[in-house]
Amino acid sequence: MKKKVIFLTSFLLAILILLSTYFSYLMNNHTKKELKTMSEKTTFSSIENTPLFKKEYEKQYEKIVIQKESNFLAEVNQFLDLKYEPEEINQIYAFLRRDNIEKLLSSEKRNVKEYYSITNFDVDKIYRYEEYQMKHNCSLKEAVLKVNIGLDHDFYTQIEEIENKNDFTVLVNKYHSLGEYEPTDLKPLSYDARYQLREQARNAFEELLSGAKLEGVFIRPYSAYRSYEYQASLYEKYVLQDGKEVADTYSARPGHSEHQTGLAVDVWSEGFTEITENDAKWLQENSYKYGFIVRYTKENKSVTGYIEEPWHLRYLGFDIAWDVHEKGLAYDEYYDLYLK
Ligand SMILES: [Zn+2]
Repeated sequence: MKKKVIFLTSFLLAILILLSTYFSYLMNNHTKKELKTMSEKTTFSSIENTPLFKKEYEKQYEKIVIQKESNFLAEVNQFLDLKYEPEEINQIYAFLRRDNIEKLLSSEKRNVKEYYSITNFDVDKIYRYEEYQMKHNCSLKEAVLKVNIGLDHDFYTQIEEIENKNDFTVLVNKYHSLGEYEPTDLKPLSYDARYQLREQARNAFEELLSGAKLEGVFIRPYSAYRSYEYQASLYEKYVLQDGKEVADTYSARPGHSEHQTGLAVDVWSEGFTEITENDAKWLQENSYKYGFIVRYTKENKSVTGYIEEPWHLRYLGFDIAWDVHEKGLAYDEYYDLYLK
């Protein structure tokens, strides 16, 4: 009986040992296989016998990380023809937007190393960035932002017609024109039906007025939507009065006013013909809660080209107004960095 037990135990043990050896062999083999496929993925051995494989680049291929792009191998050959180093090619695919990669492929070799961390840079504007940086002695990041806005050219000299005129996020400034755009959902303000805003902005503005009142801030609108024609007559009047140069610092040329979007409104303090310091402060600190920003501030004058206008509110919707307020950027800057 004892012998039988010993025999059975050793038999079972032997089976166990055999099984565990087999499993560990299986596992090992699997890992090896996995490693093999991984290394296949990161080398060019798979194209060795295809016309894409260029013998002269054999050494460079070994250092290049394969990407998912469908014509990646053909693009790598193009980059190597342009004399890019394998490491540069890896960085280009790791950091650059697709449109920039395509622009690099169709131009002579450019040094884009310094741009890897600047997400809003554009290959086509590299010379302008460099020129701006030299002239203003600023960081490359700042040069990219300013040139993207258009600030290396004088106001009103390089004008683009806006594409998304109907969006609540539309960017209207001295470089972007609305043409003769007219919004279709204008609604009168309850304060005075002569003043109109686009419906969503109107509702938000009415809420802002009641919210302000609850906190002892009494403001009223004095200008809201302005048509292209009305803006033209207004601007003309100011030019006659102050001359073009001065008029441009406080009045927009027709097509370039935020008031034409139906998303901007100017406010005065009740009983005054301007906004009081106290009310301006309240707007600066609270208007974002209702989806508005104070668009032209002392701090962003050099970007917007307008004097400080604590009375001019621009509707953007809560999420974006809140974010612009948080980041403390001019809307022109915010648009280039986050919305373009
Ligand atoms: Zn205004």
